[in-house]
Amino acid sequence: MDDRLNKWVHVTGEGCTPLLAFTYDDPTAGPSAKGTVARLPLEPEHAKRAIEEPETTLRLSGWKNRLNVRTVSEAEARDLGLPPEPPWFMHFRRYPPWREDPLLTGKFHPEYPDDIQIFVHAGNPRFSGKRPELVWVRIQESLRQSYRGILLNEPQQLEALRQGDSVQFMAVQSSPHPFMANDAYLEDRKGWVVSPCDKCGFTEMFQPPSERAAAFMRENNIPEENTPIMLSTFCPLCGGCQILGKVGTEAEQKVREFNPCGKKKWWRFWKK
Ligand SMILES: [Zn+2]
Repeated sequence: MDDRLNKWVHVTGEGCTPLLAFTYDDPTAGPSAKGTVARLPLEPEHAKRAIEEPETTLRLSGWKNRLNVRTVSEAEARDLGLPPEPPWFMHFRRYPPWREDPLLTGKFHPEYPDDIQIFVHAGNPRFSGKRPELVWVRIQESLRQSYRGILLNEPQQLEALRQGDSVQFMAVQSSPHPFMANDAYLEDRKGWVVSPCDKCGFTEMFQPPSERAAAFMRENNIPEENTPIMLSTFCPLCGGCQILGKVGTEAEQKVREFNPCGKKKWWRFWKK
């Protein structure tokens, strides 16, 4: 798929009115952008029009030469109130968005193209005593950084989850399967960097990093004024070591540079 498509963009260029638009592949006219006239700075009012009543459509064939097409950043999209895709886009969509997500490609059930296996969990097994399990989920909704779907089978030892439950999950490159992650996790995660696990390379956690830091303080009787900016924890998938660093502190760069190189990633063994 053309990676310039299915995105919010700001288009400028000679002979073209500046446009806040969503790019898509029109089945008959090809790559297109639909939106509203919007000069900088972009305002929520522009976003509202582009979502609800886009009045301008631009055909993008040959756009490389004439047009300057800038992707709207995630932070900008949030400030403007832009959804992952506008409601009118469904008329142009050939497939639901998850089927075109490169992080999910090749992982769907061969006969049920919306069914995928994900890790469900009750937090880090080291602390919860419950191991993560792989279960089938039918994806129903695309959220900004994650998906929502229903459990098609019942986990064996995670009693809190039942067949038919709705679960939120996300996919990352460092895991062979997507994993359960809620909004609280996604929000808290932005405040931390997590080093790849030294054994398997997993770059996420099964609990909000701040929650782990708070538990670490309780376990070690650390007074509140000494909140750690860097700590180690156990990888929820393999028990290896991950380092957490608080964004905006000196720990951030240290953790970003921490690379347990030379180790074979366990998910590579599974790769066909
Ligand atoms: Zn690991």
